[in-house]
Amino acid sequence: MKYISLTTAFTPLLLLITLLNSPNGISKELAITFDDSPRAAKGLLSGPERANKLVAALAKHQVKQVAFFSVSKHLNTEGITRLNTYSDAGHLIANHSHDHPDFNTSSLTQYINNFLQADKQLKQFSTFTKMYRFPYLREGNTPEKRDGMRATLDKFGYKNAYITLNTYDWYIENLFQAALAKGKEVNLERMKRFYVEVMIESIEYYDTLAIQYLNRSPKHVLLLHEMDISALFIGDLIDELRRRDWSIISPEQAYNDEISQMVTKKVLSYNPGRIGEIARDKGQKKQLWHKSLDETYLTEKFNKDVLLLKK
Ligand SMILES: [Zn+2]
Repeated sequence: MKYISLTTAFTPLLLLITLLNSPNGISKELAITFDDSPRAAKGLLSGPERANKLVAALAKHQVKQVAFFSVSKHLNTEGITRLNTYSDAGHLIANHSHDHPDFNTSSLTQYINNFLQADKQLKQFSTFTKMYRFPYLREGNTPEKRDGMRATLDKFGYKNAYITLNTYDWYIENLFQAALAKGKEVNLERMKRFYVEVMIESIEYYDTLAIQYLNRSPKHVLLLHEMDISALFIGDLIDELRRRDWSIISPEQAYNDEISQMVTKKVLSYNPGRIGEIARDKGQKKQLWHKSLDETYLTEKFNKDVLLLKK
């Protein structure tokens, strides 16, 4: 009895099923991560309202686990309550430094101390996980700093929680809150469409770039921030992603992808995310940051599509 031939006989059927599930035959997966929690809440929603709304939206859309990359400086009573809201719902709490230093302007020693301070304070959360997201994605602008921090992460059992899908959602939040603060009427339906459209533009851009250099769509990590627009529209973004054949995976699944082992040889002051690094390592010099990460583009599109201003 040859079991191999049995397996072989089923292969075309399995392939067909895969193709039917995914029109272009490529499975697309991403994990959702929110940075800067507990981020300032001074606009539309209070901090606790934001946290509750965000957790409810994720539960309603059957997203079991996302990661919140947190800064320990903001752990006052309200901040702790907010992070507990996330961890009680099963979401990961991970390290995003104590007070969000810029590695380009910090010494290695200062930077390591900042990382360790956050490690100490974030351990109190039940779902705390040893993953580190570099603030501004800056991983060290000299070989000494870059290698020093890589060794520090290893020493303390941490993973570098890189991102692959870069977005400027924080700039969209600025536009939204500034318009509200000026007393402008912001139509939430148009705001939702604008947000989802721009996020999808970034996501599809970096996925296409990944396929160009890797010949496959890797398990992606989406960079978002813990903000009001995330709480308001994350469910709509998830719906649109699923319509486009994406599935949502956990951060730990995403960091199992082969590209988690990739280490760029270059020293970079500015980092577009891991797909951008891969493209740059292979010689691409331009468009490592997509136009959906351009402040002028976003401002003009917001004025036109959301505020309906004529130029
Ligand atoms: Zn950050």
